[in-house]
Amino acid sequence: MKIVFSNKHAAHDPQTFFVRGVNRPAAEQPERAERLLGAATEAGHKVVAPRSHGRGPAAAIHTPEYLDFLSTIARDWAQLPGASAEVMPNVHPARYPASYPKALAGRAGWHQVDLACPIGPGTWDAALAASEVATTAAELVLEGAREAYALCRPPGHHAYADMAGGFCYLNNTAIAAQRLRDEHQRVAILDVDVHHGNGTQGIFWERADVLTISIHADPANYYPYFWGHAHETGAGAGTGFNLNLPQPMGSPDEPWLAAGDAAAARIRQFAPTALVVALGLDASETDPLQGLKVTGAGFHAMAARVAALGLPTVLVQEGGYLSDDLGHNLVQFLAGFEQGRA
Ligand SMILES: [Zn+2]
Repeated sequence: MKIVFSNKHAAHDPQTFFVRGVNRPAAEQPERAERLLGAATEAGHKVVAPRSHGRGPAAAIHTPEYLDFLSTIARDWAQLPGASAEVMPNVHPARYPASYPKALAGRAGWHQVDLACPIGPGTWDAALAASEVATTAAELVLEGAREAYALCRPPGHHAYADMAGGFCYLNNTAIAAQRLRDEHQRVAILDVDVHHGNGTQGIFWERADVLTISIHADPANYYPYFWGHAHETGAGAGTGFNLNLPQPMGSPDEPWLAAGDAAAARIRQFAPTALVVALGLDASETDPLQGLKVTGAGFHAMAARVAALGLPTVLVQEGGYLSDDLGHNLVQFLAGFEQGRA
């Protein structure tokens, strides 16, 4: 399988990640991508460079004011007296009607939903490169490849049209799906990251042409808390085109794979002609974020289910954090996918 990858990811090296009020080392480190790339190339998958697209594909998903914010805020923030090295909001508009502010601190609060998406000097370049990686993988599939894997970093599925969150800035999965929509009437997204794909859900919330499904640890006690519940099914024209399959915390392979079967059934009913998999590997039993307990064999089996759908498929890397199994789990997923195709 072709792997689309850019070294530009390394420009984004976040230093801030608040957990229960404590600033800890960021889980979303550059080493993640190096480990994933090393394991996949060792397993024989071939690396190709992304094509240059600029911000066009991102602009098909994200708002102009948000892209302006992401591309300029680190530079402007650095000019503020006493500013931190990374852009971090200390105020949010929260749940009441609000007006878009001019002040940098206000804009940060508007566009950054939590304290897990710091913006440093290299964040924009890395996020833009990741959007080009996802777009290129989608184009390989449009050009006839049965599948392609976008090794994106930073990840994207928590990013809304105008809001960063949870290590995510540009929604690579949504960008790939939108690119596929140029030639496919119906596209499905299956998100197997341990966290709910809330940004993706939000982006397609009122659309019937992109089916969004997420299998994740129950947000009752897990990030992103406010979204990912089973009753969230979409709105307007999109009603019924969002499916959340939350799993009890600590669930092992069997219920996770049963959710995969339910997802596959819904995808078959929707009858798309292309698929995007938001491939988080943080459902692993050894992932430091500890939401579910999926094994390498579980990833292999899920991939086989996805491949059996027989759809042109773009795999987009989402989460999955540093553990001894990270690279192994990716290789298991890619192997399961290729065997499921056979
Ligand atoms: Zn995740």
